[in-house]
Amino acid sequence: MLFAYDTECSLRAAVTLVNTAFATTADVDTWYAHHEYTGRRDRDAAELAALNALRPALRDLLTSDRDRAATLVNDLLAQAPASPRLVRHGDLDWHVHAIADNAPLAARVTVETAMAMIDLVRADEVSRLSQCTDDTCDNLVIDLTRNRSRRFCSTACANRNAVAAYRARAKKG
Ligand SMILES: [Zn+2]
Ligand SMILES: [Zn+2]
Repeated sequence: MLFAYDTECSLRAAVTLVNTAFATTADVDTWYAHHEYTGRRDRDAAELAALNALRPALRDLLTSDRDRAATLVNDLLAQAPASPRLVRHGDLDWHVHAIADNAPLAARVTVETAMAMIDLVRADEVSRLSQCTDDTCDNLVIDLTRNRSRRFCSTACANRNAVAAYRARAKKG
């Protein structure tokens, strides 16, 4: 692991949210469980809308260069009722919750993503986040591999480009 477990979880969750708008509260349920969020859930239209409304700001934060990311993180944390503390729950050892568990989910996602970006900025690793290498794809990629081998957002994009590269080579040969 390159970063703390909760940092990596928060970044993956934010990237998934940026890449895919939620259509229903069931989509939120799946995402929430998969990324091991805890705390308040409203399961209503307002929560769904608030999460989807967050996507442009998250995309901006996750695609900014290091200096701009630092400014955005500071702005987001100044606006939010952030109060970092160490918690331990379920199977998870000590990690940081930076906002009250009963704050609205969209506010928690904002603060947890900003906290995760603190780690990337400090370690000078914001380049771990990029746009998918596929020319036709706007999705974000988070590369947390040791050797920085991840360039595509999904196996679908990776396979499409592998096939194209193979065809290009076959034509030349
Ligand atoms: Zn937790
Ligand atoms: Zn892609």
